[in-house]
Amino acid sequence: MARNRALLAIDQGTTSSRAIVFDRDGRPLATAQRELPQIFPAPGLVEHDPDRIWRDSLAVARDAIAQSGLDAVEIAAIGITNQRETTVIWDRRTGAPIHNAIVWQDRRTAELCRRLRDDGRQPLIQERTGLVIDPYFSGSKIAWLLDNVDGARAAAGRGELAFGTIDSWLLWQLTGGGVHATDATNASRTMLFDIHRQAWDDELCALLDIPTSLLPEVRDSSGHFGDTAEGLFERPIAIGGIAGDQQAATVGQACFGQGMVKSTYGTGCFVMMNTGEQAIPSQNQLLTTVAYRIGGQVTYALEGSIFVAGAAVQWLRDGLNLIAAAPDSEALAREIDSTGGVYLVPAFAGLGAPYWDAEARGAILGLTRDTGIAQIVRAALEAVCYQTQDLLQAMQADAGAPIELLRVDGGMVENDWLMQFLADVVDRRVDRPAVTETTALGAAYLAGLQAGIYGGLDEVAAHWRHQASFSPSMAAERRHELYEAWEDAVARVRTAK
Ligand code: ADP
Repeated sequence: MARNRALLAIDQGTTSSRAIVFDRDGRPLATAQRELPQIFPAPGLVEHDPDRIWRDSLAVARDAIAQSGLDAVEIAAIGITNQRETTVIWDRRTGAPIHNAIVWQDRRTAELCRRLRDDGRQPLIQERTGLVIDPYFSGSKIAWLLDNVDGARAAAGRGELAFGTIDSWLLWQLTGGGVHATDATNASRTMLFDIHRQAWDDELCALLDIPTSLLPEVRDSSGHFGDTAEGLFERPIAIGGIAGDQQAATVGQACFGQGMVKSTYGTGCFVMMNTGEQAIPSQNQLLTTVAYRIGGQVTYALEGSIFVAGAAVQWLRDGLNLIAAAPDSEALAREIDSTGGVYLVPAFAGLGAPYWDAEARGAILGLTRDTGIAQIVRAALEAVCYQTQDLLQAMQADAGAPIELLRVDGGMVENDWLMQFLADVVDRRVDRPAVTETTALGAAYLAGLQAGIYGGLDEVAAHWRHQASFSPSMAAERRHELYEAWEDAVARVRTAK
């Protein structure tokens, strides 16, 4: 059998662990998936079982290889992509986690973060890490574990513990405890990493009282991280790439040029803009982050997220029973010419970028006696488009350069009506690729670069295959009118400013 015919991506997400085998052209050959149980110890707290994450990730990796009909020797390398910020601490000697993983959504460190903000730490933290102070990021979660797990601080002081985001945890397990490392994209989500110097920041670690002996070595996103331990697969396989999920999607969408933007529409929506070698500090409450680091060269990005995108469609289906299935939203939206002035602001869990209003709650505005199911469903879809425009405007203002087009992926982009309305509202072309599994694909590309399957990013970019484009066709006047009414609707739900 030929060597190096394929690449294996492990995509460890918030709700599932998946593995996909891709051929050299980036076509998926086999997929395996397991749902990941969510642990909710109390309101606002979300945990995962790290051992379960490891077991499932290994199982799906083995399943995907088996289904592909390939031999392990034909897998050139493994790429790992992961839910970002989720925090695990384990014992270096036994490999046993000291506590469940604290998931990115978990709010238990809100008080600690408030204190940091009140102490005036925001400018320093934004300057060094590109982030806003928020429980979302790993730093405060590490501090919580050290302060709340019996004996943890003392054990950390003796150098017995290791911290990792999920990529590090999987890498440690895959290498049989041989490698404690992460990549620059995952490190950039900890609130402890200086994205300019590309090093852990002693001052920030001291601020959170985190011993640096806990931290993994930070490496390029593409490189030889290690080989899988004996006995896991038929033969050891090299681990050649690691990136956080949104960064991996940026690679999978081949957004390698400065100014290129990808937007992922799943449960939430994540927009990332490549800003090249420049880390642009945001004046509009976006995050500055590492898009990828290859050959020691850092490429930066601006990132904005919308908490509720597809989740609003799920709510229409499960909460209100207005539709039987998510794709039904398309036919309903097409039934009418407009929502008749109805706006749905899906601030179910507050508003994300560029508003960052945690206390805001959702609203449906502009109801009349004529409002029916179609208007409300369509308003939920339209809201995703208006929020994307909010983010693009903020990005364009920060970057000082125009955004010409949008590469989209995620479950919602199957909705053609939504994609056309998106193009109309953002007034830019929207491109949908043939492979919308861009997160896993990006991890595979990073591993493929390391394995020498691709000579460079240009070669990867040549594999990006276009499936459909949506061009703006709405009159400017209507676009302005709709968007102004959206801004007015948002203003009514905001609690600050
Ligand atoms: P995640 O990776 O966040 O779990 P996916 O990328 O699988 O999400 O996308 C699923 C989301 O997309 C769900 O919230 C679902 O409601 C929404 N969705 C799926 N198909 C459609 C559709 N045709 N129209 C609108 N929304 C859709």
